[in-house]
Amino acid sequence: MQTYLVGGAVRDNLLGYPVYDRDWVVVGATPEQMLQQGFRPVGKDFPVFIHPDSGEEYALARTERKSGKGYAGFRYYASPDVTLEEDLIRRDLTINAMAMDDQGNITDPYNGQRDLQQKVLRHVSPAFSEDPLRVLRVARFQARYAGLGFTIAPQTLRLMQQLAQGDELEHLTAERVWQEFQRALGEDSPQQFLVTLLQANALIKLFPELIAAARDTQTLTAISQPVDPRVRFAILLRSAFAKIPLAQRNQYIKKFCDDHRTPNAYRDLALQFCSQSDQLCHYSQLDAEQRLELVRQLDLLRRDEHLSLLLQGCSVICKETLAVEQQLPQLLESLRKINPKALMDQGFKGKALGEALYRTQLAVCQQQIDGVL
Ligand code: ATP
Ligand code: MG
Repeated sequence: MQTYLVGGAVRDNLLGYPVYDRDWVVVGATPEQMLQQGFRPVGKDFPVFIHPDSGEEYALARTERKSGKGYAGFRYYASPDVTLEEDLIRRDLTINAMAMDDQGNITDPYNGQRDLQQKVLRHVSPAFSEDPLRVLRVARFQARYAGLGFTIAPQTLRLMQQLAQGDELEHLTAERVWQEFQRALGEDSPQQFLVTLLQANALIKLFPELIAAARDTQTLTAISQPVDPRVRFAILLRSAFAKIPLAQRNQYIKKFCDDHRTPNAYRDLALQFCSQSDQLCHYSQLDAEQRLELVRQLDLLRRDEHLSLLLQGCSVICKETLAVEQQLPQLLESLRKINPKALMDQGFKGKALGEALYRTQLAVCQQQIDGVL
C-alpha cells in the first residue's frame, strides 16, 4: 500500500500558504488492512479512516459515480485496484488534484502545477458538473486566492452556470451552503464569493436576498476590508435590507438567518448593527437622550462583547468614526461608575429608583456633550 498527501495541503504547500489540515489517500489497501493497522473508520460504508495518533483523514483511493440528486447522491467504488490517477480525476479543481509521496515527489496528471503558476481555477473533468457543492467551493477558493491574482477558467465558469440553471443547487442543504458562506466570509476577498456566484447565476438560487448587495461596489469594498467575518455579514445584511423600513427590518434579518441556518453570533450582531448603524455613524450629532437610547438598545452596559465588532463595522461604513470610536467607550465607562446603591441610600426604591437612575445616566450623557466628562 502507498500513502500520499493530497488536496489542499499539496496546493497550499506549493503556494507557500500555511497548511492547516492534511488529507491523505491510500492506494492498494483494503478496509480490513486499515483496521488492522489501528485506523478508525469514519462511517460504515465510507472508505475514509482516521489515523489513531494524528487524527488526520486517510481515504482509500476511490472512484465516484453520480447516482442521485444533491451532495448525498454519490456512489463510491473503493478497491485496492483503484489507481492514484483515478482517484485524482474525481476531484473538483486541478490545483486540488495533486498528490505528494513521502519523498516529496508530486503526482500531477491534470496539470495542477501549471494552473497554480497561471493562477487559474480549472475543473479537472466534465464530472465537475455532478456535484453542485463545487459551485460554492470554487467561489470560496476565488475568495481566498483572488488577491494572488487567481481567476476562474471560462469553461469552468460555464459548467458552474449550467449547474445553476438546473435544480441541483436546491438539493444542497442550508447547513452546507451556510458552511461555505461562513468560510468565505473569513477569506481575504470575501466579496469574490458573491461576485463569483453572481457570475455563475447561482446567487439567485442560493442567496437571492444578496443580489443587490453583490452588485453594489460600495458594499463589496466594505466587506473586503480586514474585519471580523461577523462584521462583514452584518454589513452585507445592512446593505441587503437598507430599503426595508426600520420597523420591519429585524423581521427580514431574522427570516434570512432562519432560512440560511445562520448561527446566533452572526444573527445577533447583524440585528444590532442594522438597526443602530445610522445612530453609531452620527454619534457626535446625538443628544443626551439619543445617546442613552443607543446604549440601551445595544444593551452595552450588560454585555459589551459586541462593542468592538460594532466599532469595526463603523470603521468601514461611516464617513466619520472618530467621535463614536472615542466617545462611546468613554460614555460606557462613566455610566458604569454610577452606583445604584448610592441612590438607594438616598431613599429611592422601586419605580422611583429606576427613574432616578435614568436621570443620572442622562446627566452623564449631557456631560459628555458639554465636554465635561
Ligand atoms: P481547505 O484548505 O479549505 O481545506 P481543501 O482543498 O483541502 O481546502 P477539503 O474540503 O479539505 O478542501 O477537501 C480535500 C480535497 O478533497 C480537495 O482538495 C479536493 O481534492 C477534494 N474535494 C473535497 N470536496 C470535494 C468536492 N465537493 N468535489 C470534488 N472534490 C472535492
Ligand atoms: Mg483540506
